[in-house]
Amino acid sequence: MLRIVFVHAGFSVDRMASGHSGKLRRKAGEIDRILTRTYGRKEVELDDDPIDTLVETILSQNTTDVNSHKAFRELKRAYPSWNRMKGESPAKVAAIIRPGGLAKIKADRILGALDFIERETGKLDLSFLGSMSPGEVDAWLARIKGVGPKTRSIVMLFSLDMPTFPVDTHIHRVAKRLGLIGSRTSREKAQEEMARLVPSTKFYNFHINIIEHGRAVCKARKPRCTVCSISRLCDYYSTKG
Ligand code: SF4
Repeated sequence: MLRIVFVHAGFSVDRMASGHSGKLRRKAGEIDRILTRTYGRKEVELDDDPIDTLVETILSQNTTDVNSHKAFRELKRAYPSWNRMKGESPAKVAAIIRPGGLAKIKADRILGALDFIERETGKLDLSFLGSMSPGEVDAWLARIKGVGPKTRSIVMLFSLDMPTFPVDTHIHRVAKRLGLIGSRTSREKAQEEMARLVPSTKFYNFHINIIEHGRAVCKARKPRCTVCSISRLCDYYSTKG
């Protein structure tokens, strides 16, 4: 199981000590400031129900936000409370979430996750996780089949206000181009490395603004480097620009 790095009063507990790491942290801080000026400061808005966040994240795997939001809306319309999904057939759930793609796999994962939560706790409620340490929450969520490091990290940051740095496909791409992480760094490993670069109080804002930048400017196929506000800090631009 991949270790998620947790932070304590600012930077990661196992701080990086080298000068190179100091430079990277300063660079990340500057990027954070510029992106905040460009896209605005994102205040923490916690999701009310960690199960909602968990299910939404499962639905978001390998599809666009538009499709996964549509699938989530359809699911909530069909089952306004998760209790109503108890004992539902995977085929029926798959038919409802079809707009989100990989419907059968995702239906199995969602039903499996709900089963696990109910079996372990006696009810469909994850609010108890809020009183556990981040490490304990990570280990608990990791026992749910199909719930990987990114999903756990998203649940913890977005619904439990815990200091983790989820890395999705946009953050992974942009961080590599900027040189904040190595070109071969895996997405999972990137969660650890990004968590070391900015203080935990900035995770939420930095996370959302990098995604926004990845969607609007640092696109996967054709990055729009000529209009990029952080091009002078970008390794990709300095070598290819
Ligand atoms: S300069 Fe280009 S590659 Fe670098 S962050 Fe900006 S858009 Fe992405």
